Amino acid sequence: MRVGVFGAGGRVGSEVCRAVAGDPDLTLAAAVDPHHEGIDLRQATGVDAGLQIAGDATALARAGVEVVVDFTHLAAARENLRWCAANGVHAVVGTTGFTEGDFDELGRLFEASSANCFVAPNFAIGAVLMMRFAELAAPWFESAEVVELHHDDKLDAPSGTAMLTMERMAAASGEWGADPTRTEVVAGARGGVGPAGIRVHSVRLRGLVAHQEVLLGTTGQSLSIRHDSYDRTSFMPGVLLAVKAVPQRPGLTVGLDALLGL
Ligand code: NAP
Repeated sequence: MRVGVFGAGGRVGSEVCRAVAGDPDLTLAAAVDPHHEGIDLRQATGVDAGLQIAGDATALARAGVEVVVDFTHLAAARENLRWCAANGVHAVVGTTGFTEGDFDELGRLFEASSANCFVAPNFAIGAVLMMRFAELAAPWFESAEVVELHHDDKLDAPSGTAMLTMERMAAASGEWGADPTRTEVVAGARGGVGPAGIRVHSVRLRGLVAHQEVLLGTTGQSLSIRHDSYDRTSFMPGVLLAVKAVPQRPGLTVGLDALLGL
């Protein structure tokens, strides 16, 4: 399968180039990134595919790309996906920030196109399984807390993954025990209050990447579900799975769960 990469000069995009080039079933056929146009791909990513980074999507058409992976910025991804739908190139998208309105538009565009679109807010298979396991466990426990731990450059708290985990646990069970705390000696010691009153704690620590632990407790036992991402390679098995699956999934598919049979 001939694969292209939008955002090939970026942090995740360059990792995608390496992953695609290293997969025996895939050929890295084009790399696009307007601000890295003309740079030898080997210099930018270490991938010796005889390619130069192109400035726009026409390079994908010239190279006969069947699937393109997009890890760019929201505004760029919106344009790139309109191009994919209009030109019949399947899209695998990791760029984050799409609104409900965007998903409606993507659904319409790819329903009408010969190409398909797969979007996942999280390509780490372990993180997707962690959320599913937490959702399955929720009805069997009375108390739960989420601890998410990230690098010290992260600007928002709690993480999107922590929010989504709590939303899914809250949807699976509304019966959580009341918080017994009467006095908080240090403000915030009991963390933030998420969906269904589930507490969330955000740790920011130099040296960490992206980690999360879901703690569940009931009489005489507890369950801890933990996932750790050590670097951006953690997204690559999910990206490669999606690249190979997207031609068989008509229209728009959102979330890795669908590909994992969850
Ligand atoms: P990044 O390092 O800034 O990479 C994005 C690259 O795309 C940059 O080189 C950027 O160039 C380039 N770009 C901008 N407009 C473009 C266009 N029209 N066509 C092609 N390339 C274009 O960012 P990143 O850390 O790789 O993250 C990229 C996105 O992936 C973010 O939205 C991030 O939240 C998301 N992400 C998702 C997952 C997941 O599992 N779904 C995991 C990690 C990250 P300039 O910087 O010069 O504009």
